[in-house]
Amino acid sequence: MLSGFGVQSPATGSRTFEGESRFSEHLRDGVQCLTMPSLHYESKGQRFDSSRARHRGQGGGPTSLPTTIVTSADADDTQCMALALEEARRAESEGEVPIGALVVLDGRIVGRGRNQVIAASDPTAHAEILALREAAAALGNYRLTGATLYVTLEPCAMCCGAAVNARVARVVYGAADPKAGAAQSLYRLLEDRRLNHRAPVTGGVLQQECGAILSEFFQKRR
Ligand code: ZN
Repeated sequence: MLSGFGVQSPATGSRTFEGESRFSEHLRDGVQCLTMPSLHYESKGQRFDSSRARHRGQGGGPTSLPTTIVTSADADDTQCMALALEEARRAESEGEVPIGALVVLDGRIVGRGRNQVIAASDPTAHAEILALREAAAALGNYRLTGATLYVTLEPCAMCCGAAVNARVARVVYGAADPKAGAAQSLYRLLEDRRLNHRAPVTGGVLQQECGAILSEFFQKRR
């Protein structure tokens, strides 16, 4: 179960919060505008802090903040992550830890999921698992070849395993999870050459928004 997460920031390092899922009211006011910037996203000319460059800098002490001109792929990632954030907000409104996921294939959303562990009394009801299940059912195939999994929080070991089994082409996440993340933080399961499938990982897409919805959720629970 999620026990903490962090937003990677070169200036502040990793902020980590403790908490467990439990509904707290008055949350929606604080998160309403979180995805708005991405809705007005322009595919060219807007600068975007490269999450990949940032992850290369992790653990190596202070580094300058690299920026890259956004590519159309990055713009798509941002737009899809904004939609995953909508799923996270749905989870929040249901009293679950706000994490959302999407499966996108050929520019089409084929699966959506939001964290539902409490409502479902199911420790496997993570957003990614539910999105992968919906996608596989929609496509009639457990192999989601060519699909990209988007999730607002770095996936855990279980969800990375599911992504490998689904043969997804890519995994894109928002906020890093230094206590449970298995894509880059604790393990690099999706890039482990000993496994029979690998999926490139992009982290840090809309990480501030994805982390803020979680931090606000836990802060209001205190
Ligand atoms: Zn998971």
